[in-house]
Amino acid sequence: MMDDLFANVFSELIDASEEQQALLDSLAPLMPDTAMALVDGEGAILATAPEGINDIPDQLLSRARRTAELVSARDDRGRWTYACYLEAPTVLVFRPADSQKDLCADPFLATLCRNTLQLALLRKEKQEVVLEKGQLQRQIEVLKRQHTRLIDDNHEQYLLIQEKEKQYAKELESEIARQTRELRHKNEELQEASRLKSEFLANMSHELRTPMNAIIGFSGLLLESPLDEEQEDFVQTISKAADSLLVLINDILDLAKIESGKLDLASDVVDLGELARNVSAMLAAQASRNGNVLRVDVAPALAGRPVLGDEVRLRQILINLVGNALKFTENGEVDIAIRRDAAPRTDHVVFEVRDTGIGIPAHRLQAIFEKFTQADGSTTRQYGGTGLGLAICCQLAELMGGKLAVESVEGKGSLFRCVVPLAEVTEQAAHRTMVPAPGDAAEEKEADTLSVLLVEDNLVNQKLAKLLVQRQGCQVAVAADGVEALAMLRDRQFDVVLMDIHMPRMDGLEATKKIRAIESSQQEAEHYVGLGRAGGIPIIGLTASVRKEDEQACYEAGMDAFLPKPINKNKLAEILNFHSSSLKKGAAAAPDQEK
Ligand code: ADP
Repeated sequence: MMDDLFANVFSELIDASEEQQALLDSLAPLMPDTAMALVDGEGAILATAPEGINDIPDQLLSRARRTAELVSARDDRGRWTYACYLEAPTVLVFRPADSQKDLCADPFLATLCRNTLQLALLRKEKQEVVLEKGQLQRQIEVLKRQHTRLIDDNHEQYLLIQEKEKQYAKELESEIARQTRELRHKNEELQEASRLKSEFLANMSHELRTPMNAIIGFSGLLLESPLDEEQEDFVQTISKAADSLLVLINDILDLAKIESGKLDLASDVVDLGELARNVSAMLAAQASRNGNVLRVDVAPALAGRPVLGDEVRLRQILINLVGNALKFTENGEVDIAIRRDAAPRTDHVVFEVRDTGIGIPAHRLQAIFEKFTQADGSTTRQYGGTGLGLAICCQLAELMGGKLAVESVEGKGSLFRCVVPLAEVTEQAAHRTMVPAPGDAAEEKEADTLSVLLVEDNLVNQKLAKLLVQRQGCQVAVAADGVEALAMLRDRQFDVVLMDIHMPRMDGLEATKKIRAIESSQQEAEHYVGLGRAGGIPIIGLTASVRKEDEQACYEAGMDAFLPKPINKNKLAEILNFHSSSLKKGAAAAPDQEK
């Protein structure tokens, strides 16, 4: 494109031969009837006017080149030819028609001739300047045109690029929209899959916990009966295996809930000192079995100053860390320390569990927080465990907005530190009733003879729950589902209803709603001997499901409390005793709702 441009520029210029011809043409009118020629250094004729001179004497040219004067020479025919050196290496040669006289012989004529030539040269120069000016102007014009063309071209290119960019942006936009649609669709599919997974797990856990309920319950009852040594050993083994299986089921379910984002944290008023002492009491037997000293140190700043947090999950983290510390330490020390974090993070609480046990190799420190991972392959054989506990603790801590970390020296011991934000409870919230520790109530009061209606479809569970309730000194009548329970309430009075949730014909939620509806209508209640008392009949939900939404559904249906299966003997005693003493007092206040 540039070559093109300059080719055009030079094509408009005038070349040297044109100039020489122009010089002769300007001389012609000044020297009429004179033949002229311009000759170069080699003697070659460059231009002629009006007609050329063919026979230039050689020595005339060499003489002309040596002097600035006009020189002349006469040929055989007596004609005079003149030469004058114009500019290197050009020489002007001319021969007037009347050439019989030598102009150079007359100084006046020679001067006249020279002046004439001078004048012609000046004219030529002037013409050249004019020509040059014209050329420059033409050059400028050409450049201007080229410039305009360049600008036009550029503009065209710019528009083209812009158009292309627009097109590209449009394509990109529609591609992004398509991908977003696809992603949204995939996301919905994933969410649905995750929902199905967690539903499946919840159902599975229900199915698994139901037989576990029977195994744990009956082996507990068996252990209380007279057994010979071998039988006791067998039952102990069954009981321990069932306990660890239940822990595993709970762990897997917890992990699934956390991973599917289904784990909601509760906001309880928690006394951290009490929590630590509870955990320590719970694990005291394990500590002494391994010859360990277990100590608790709760900072004075936390004493009597409850915090707002999820008590169950905080307890779960602490039990896991202390349980591990005791498991991996023999004849050593395990210290639980709880304090507020240093400024500026004083809204965080630090839970530290330090042990003097086997420690963890440095290269395994990070791996132990991963699912199903243990510090070394022999751990399971020697100490048991599944490698799920720390993964759950870690995720729980993160869910609370905190962090779990470890420092350890192999052979010397480990320090697990969990730091979570836990706000101090305002005065108002502190007045909320604290959840009583399991067993407290049972120790305080003795269960009186209560009449309990057990609504349960599963025969094994019926048998177990009946035995557990009877052991509390209560009388039990059994209904196989909601329909049967309503029929029994029509004819008999009961003090408490233990209501299973999942049952054929009429499930526990529907039965509870029916009971509450009957109680709210005086007319209907008159047909039921067992209903119509002030405050309503206490209904306690029983289920192997541990999903928060199932618990919530129980309360929404009108139940007073919730007892997860496998039924904890102490919790059952606590609830029954509460209702027994309520009956005695004639009060109808409900106990705290169990978790
Ligand atoms: P589990 O104890 O069921 O195997 P965890 O997730 O609780 O699973 O722990 C993972 C692994 O981390 C353990 O198997 C053990 O190797 C290591 N570990 C945890 N706590 C300690 C501790 N206090 N001392 C030594 N090793 C520990």
